[in-house]
Amino acid sequence: MTALPIRSIAIVGGGTAGWMTAVSLAKFFKAANVRVRLIESEQIGIIGVGEATIPPIMHFIRGAGIDENDLIRKTQSTFKLGIEFKDWTRIGHSYLHPFGNTGFDLGPVAFSAYWLKAFREGRASRLEEYSLEATAAYAAKFMRPVQAANSPLEKITYALHFDASLFARYLRSIGEARGVERTEGKVKSVALQSDNGFIRALTLESGEQVEADLYIDCSGFRGLLIEGALQTGYEHWNRWLPCDRAVAVPCERTAALSSYTRVTAKSAGWQWRIPLQHRIGNGYVYGSGFISDAQAQEELVSSIEGKAFAEPLKLQFSTGRRKRFWNKNCVAIGLSAGFLEPLESTSIHFIQRGIALLLSYFPDRNFNTADMDRYNKIVTSEYERVRDFLLLHYGSTERDDSEIWRYCRSIDKPDSLRERIELFQSCGRLIREDNELFPMQSWLYVLVGQNLMPQNDDPLVNILDPRQVMDNLDNIRSVVRQCSAAMPKHEDFIKQNCAAVVATAAAASS
Ligand SMILES: Cc1cc2nc3c(=O)[nH]c(=O)nc-3n(C[C@H](O)[C@H](O)[C@H](O)COP(=O)(O)OP(=O)(O)OC[C@H]3O[C@@H](n4cnc5c(N)ncnc54)[C@H](O)[C@@H]3O)c2cc1C
Repeated sequence: MTALPIRSIAIVGGGTAGWMTAVSLAKFFKAANVRVRLIESEQIGIIGVGEATIPPIMHFIRGAGIDENDLIRKTQSTFKLGIEFKDWTRIGHSYLHPFGNTGFDLGPVAFSAYWLKAFREGRASRLEEYSLEATAAYAAKFMRPVQAANSPLEKITYALHFDASLFARYLRSIGEARGVERTEGKVKSVALQSDNGFIRALTLESGEQVEADLYIDCSGFRGLLIEGALQTGYEHWNRWLPCDRAVAVPCERTAALSSYTRVTAKSAGWQWRIPLQHRIGNGYVYGSGFISDAQAQEELVSSIEGKAFAEPLKLQFSTGRRKRFWNKNCVAIGLSAGFLEPLESTSIHFIQRGIALLLSYFPDRNFNTADMDRYNKIVTSEYERVRDFLLLHYGSTERDDSEIWRYCRSIDKPDSLRERIELFQSCGRLIREDNELFPMQSWLYVLVGQNLMPQNDDPLVNILDPRQVMDNLDNIRSVVRQCSAAMPKHEDFIKQNCAAVVATAAAASS
């Protein structure tokens, strides 16, 4: 078959997904004279939430040629070392899921195996004490990795919290500078080719027609192209993840700048707290079957730490995924592709993965079915693994103080998650599937945090000399403490390196 290169790409949507995609594609295709157009409607606007990220975002930022400090200054960003889960296991209990690596293996014996044994015997501290990211997060510390041979300071792993609206604006300025053609306007209708059902053209409210070889649907929850035009179908996951609404409100910051996201389990869902330079982002993600909108708003507003900077923003969603992410000549990226609630801050990561995989399987105008199938298979698997990870938090709660938590305890877990829990609970085994986002240590933190402790030791752990194990654990914990003590306060690090241009209440409510 003759190769027919893609000549033009139309992206519908100018939220985080649209502009991340535009910036990336423009970088690669500008030289090849591929036309990249982005259509967005200010009248519809963007979702405007999505402020916590995970470490792979730093690869996106660097790969896109973005100056990290410049981005931080202009998007009111702060640094993030992990996520604290409060009241998830039981009220009054908390644990942290930090980024980065904890401890090190001893030959064939994983750190997790010898720590679990020592902890069960009452000879080891909490897992977080062996992680520099967790220890520094609890002490409101931060710095970027520095050269320091054999020290955890070399490998500090971090992500960002940023203002979602400012982030989309920032990306837009880069995209436009790279030659992305932006059209302000509303897509009114989508025409399909009569022979194969591929998208032929978009008609805007202005009457303008936009034609392209490849269409990227970044239109948000509405999925204007992938669903509205192509009727691809959606797989709902509400039976596993019972929340379907959120209310968000930014407020004044009253405490020192923390370097982690906090998520607190509440009466009908959970609440996020995301520290930015100019404000705190707060939101309550809840199940509409378990609380009224008015009660949820009241529960959120009454628990925020400072003066609210805006009216509460209400959002509805359906957790799940599109049946095909890539259908014909349309690829859905962002909320149009699917939604997993932001408990582990994964949505923006899925945007990034969608872009990276699109580049790996980039089509020509023949649209090879095998490429599309492979893309859909990988993204499906990644969504399912993250779904399982989120369900692990809900489905292993000990709480029975309200209806949602009683429901969560009765959820019939997918076999994939059940297998992982069984493997861990038998003798502490952890697994990571191909391309899976979260490493084994992420699973370890949440399994331990949710109190799903193994009944037996890993058989291999008994080959170790118990004294050597204790020396190692003591040494790791002591190095972590020293390193954390040497790190600056998060607030001071930002002041010295990347303080926002305007850090005022006015900026917070804009
Ligand atoms: C409550 C909540 C909390 C979240 N928190 C996080 C988080 O902490 N971390 C994280 O990673 N993610 C989070 N997310 C997800 C994150 O917000 C999204 O992944 C991200 O903002 C991408 O959104 P988007 O660009 O796909 O859609 P949107 O922001 O909705 O953008 C859609 C775009 O499509 C345009 N559009 C729509 N229809 C038309 C039309 N007819 N014509 C022209 N243009 C059109 C709109 O104008 C807009 O520009 C959260 C989501 C929710 C709901």
